[in-house]
Amino acid sequence: MQSQTSKEEFNYRLDKLREAVDAEQLLRILGFTITRITEKEVRGPCAVHGGDNKTAFRMNRDTKRWVCFSHNCHEDIGFGVIDLIKHKLNMTFTEAVRYLESITGVNVHDDSSYIEYKRHKDRQEVIQQADNRKIPPALTDEMYLKSFRKFRSDYFNIEKNGEFSSELLDFFEIGGGYVDKFGFQRDVIPIRDTYGRLLAYSARDITDKADEDYKYLLTEGFDKDKVLYNLFRAKGYMGASRTIIVVEGFKSVWNLHRAGYKNTVACMGSRITAGQQHLLYSTAFDVIILFDGDKAGVEGTIRALDAMKDKIRVIPLFLPYTGKDPGDLTVEEICSIIGNII
Ligand SMILES: [Zn+2]
Repeated sequence: MQSQTSKEEFNYRLDKLREAVDAEQLLRILGFTITRITEKEVRGPCAVHGGDNKTAFRMNRDTKRWVCFSHNCHEDIGFGVIDLIKHKLNMTFTEAVRYLESITGVNVHDDSSYIEYKRHKDRQEVIQQADNRKIPPALTDEMYLKSFRKFRSDYFNIEKNGEFSSELLDFFEIGGGYVDKFGFQRDVIPIRDTYGRLLAYSARDITDKADEDYKYLLTEGFDKDKVLYNLFRAKGYMGASRTIIVVEGFKSVWNLHRAGYKNTVACMGSRITAGQQHLLYSTAFDVIILFDGDKAGVEGTIRALDAMKDKIRVIPLFLPYTGKDPGDLTVEEICSIIGNII
């Protein structure tokens, strides 16, 4: 605890914490637009006073000290990174330190975490060289998820079809503030295994600027073969008939949940893999398949029926060829499709 640590020691550890912060990532989360990154500094308009001079704000990438050349905002707030977080996120000093701990993985109360952080960072760099279109596995951690959850955008709230409530998105632990290597901000969907352990994220581009194939990014190394999204919750709602509904995507799970069908899982594609089939056999008696209303959805349903016949009872439901998926439907539409089956 801080009280047992000398002041010098605590300050030394705070330096380590500041050192661990990625200036660019932090500033983006805090709402800054980055216009230039030099060897020493990250620059952009000052989001403290909201000016539009493109290089008024500068943060040193090592010390994380910052200045605002237009309005001298640092004179009012303080030029340290913790001062900036306190101001932008309306936090106390202690909360700001905890926040930095959660986004860096460095714990100022624990020596070993700094070494651990260095190891994570080295690993992360190797992975980013390997494939920068995947999310670094080092972020798959409850602490990071907690910090992502503070930065969820309203992307899924205001979608034309979904109108998912904040309560519903909270329930599914949706976060935000992840910035990919191309600078696109993304909302974050945690994926847990059958026992609720955090395995990976899928991150949705909320700027709609990413290529079609990269609307969703997955955590590097994640293998969906033995995972059904939401199974750890859905298995508690199967009822005496032990029925599981399988849909393709995350939003379809949320939408069916909203309509009262909490026994819904997603296979994260239009194919139920062999590993996912085994998960279903060991969990459920009846499986309802409700895939998207397109060619891939119909073909995936037929393939699943064929693969799973004689192993479990499968009830296929087909949406009309409208290009709609279960995530697009109203509660009434969902109930009219599934209602009389369970
Ligand atoms: Zn300023």
